[in-house]
Amino acid sequence: NKKIVLNKRPDGNVSPDCWKLIQEDMDVDLKPGEFIVKVMYISVDPAMRGWINDVESYMPAVQIDETMRALGLAEVIESKNDSFAKNDILSGMFGVQKFCKLNSAYAIEKIDITKPSNVDKSMYLSILGMPGMTAYFGLMDVAKIQSGDTVLISGAAGAVGSIAGQIAKIKGCNVVGIAGGELKCRYLVEELGFDSAIDYKNVKDLNNAIASSCPNGVDVFFDNVGGAALDAALNHINPKARVTICGAISQYNASGLNIRAEIDYIPILFKSARLEGFVVLDYYSRYHEGVSQLSEWIQQGKIKSKEDIRQGIDHFGEYFKLLFDGGNFGKLILEP
Ligand code: NDP
Repeated sequence: NKKIVLNKRPDGNVSPDCWKLIQEDMDVDLKPGEFIVKVMYISVDPAMRGWINDVESYMPAVQIDETMRALGLAEVIESKNDSFAKNDILSGMFGVQKFCKLNSAYAIEKIDITKPSNVDKSMYLSILGMPGMTAYFGLMDVAKIQSGDTVLISGAAGAVGSIAGQIAKIKGCNVVGIAGGELKCRYLVEELGFDSAIDYKNVKDLNNAIASSCPNGVDVFFDNVGGAALDAALNHINPKARVTICGAISQYNASGLNIRAEIDYIPILFKSARLEGFVVLDYYSRYHEGVSQLSEWIQQGKIKSKEDIRQGIDHFGEYFKLLFDGGNFGKLILEP
C-alpha cells in the first residue's frame, strides 16, 4: 500500500514536509467483518487543513504518523463483511491511500452507480457527495432562499460555490458570484448562468464591486471565504438578510495571532439579519434528500458539475496547496 501520513503540524501554510509518503505491505488475511477496498478517487478538501490542527473541532485532529483523513470513492476487492461484497462501490472516509482495510460500516455508503445514469463516478465526491450536500442544505435549510432573493456567493467557482449558485438560479434567485480570475468569472456567467460575477483578484474595491453588482442589496450571503469578503458583503445586506457561514478558507492558513476572529457585526444588528454557521455532517441522515433532488436536476440538464482530477498520490502535497491559491478549477479530486 502507498499512503500519505501527517509528518508534522503546519504553522501557517502547509509546507511539503508536513506530509510523508509511506510504502508498506498490507496484511490481506481477513478476519470476519473485515474488507479491503481499492481507492478510486480521493476527495481533496479545504476541511483537511482544519483536521491537521491540534485543536478541538467537530472531528478529532489527525495525529502525527496517522494516515491523512480523506473522503473517497472505492471498490471492494476482498470482503468478509456481510454488508459489502466484492465489486461494490462505496463512499466513505478511506484516507489518502491506495488501499484501505476496514472492519466497520460506520459512515460508509454503498453507491448505486447506475442511478442517475449519465454521471461520472467522480461526481459522487462532488455534486452528489459532500460539496453538493453542503450547497443544498446550506441554501435550502440554513439560508432558506426564496425566489427573488439576491444571493451573493464567495468562492463561487469552487466545488460548493458553483453548485450553490446553480441551485439558487433554479429557485428563482438573482445570483452574484465572487471568484478569482477572469476565466472562473466567465465560467460562472456563461456556463452556469450566474447573473454576474466579481473577480475579487482584479477589482480595485470589493465593496464598490458588490454595490454595483447587487443594486438591490444582498438577501443571502453564502460565505465560503471569510475575512475581507465577509466584511465587504455585510456592508450590503438587506433587512432580514441571512448570512450563511459555510467556510472561511481565507483564514485557514493563518497562524496564531493572524487569525481574524473579529468581524464588524453591526450591520447584522441594524438590518435584523441572521448570521449562522453549519457543518454538513449534521445533515448526514438527510443526504438522500439532497442526492435525489440534485440527481433529478442533473437528469433534467438544469445543473452542471465540474471536477478537477489530478493523478498520483506522490503529488498529494502539491495538489492540496492548489486549494489555497485558487489553482483548482472545480472539485479537486485525486486519483491515487
Ligand atoms: P473550492 O473548490 O472552492 O476550492 C477552494 C477555493 O477557494 C480556491 O479555488 C480559491 O478560489 C478559493 N480561495 C482560496 N483561498 C482564498 C482566499 N484567501 N480568498 C478568497 N478565495 C480563496 O473548495 P470547496 O468548494 O470544497 O470548499 C469551499 C468552502 O466551503 C471552504 O471554506 C470549505 O471549508 C467550506 N466547506 C464547508 C462545509 C461545511 O460543512 N460547512 C463542507 C464543505 C466545504 P478562487 O480562485 O476563486 O480564489
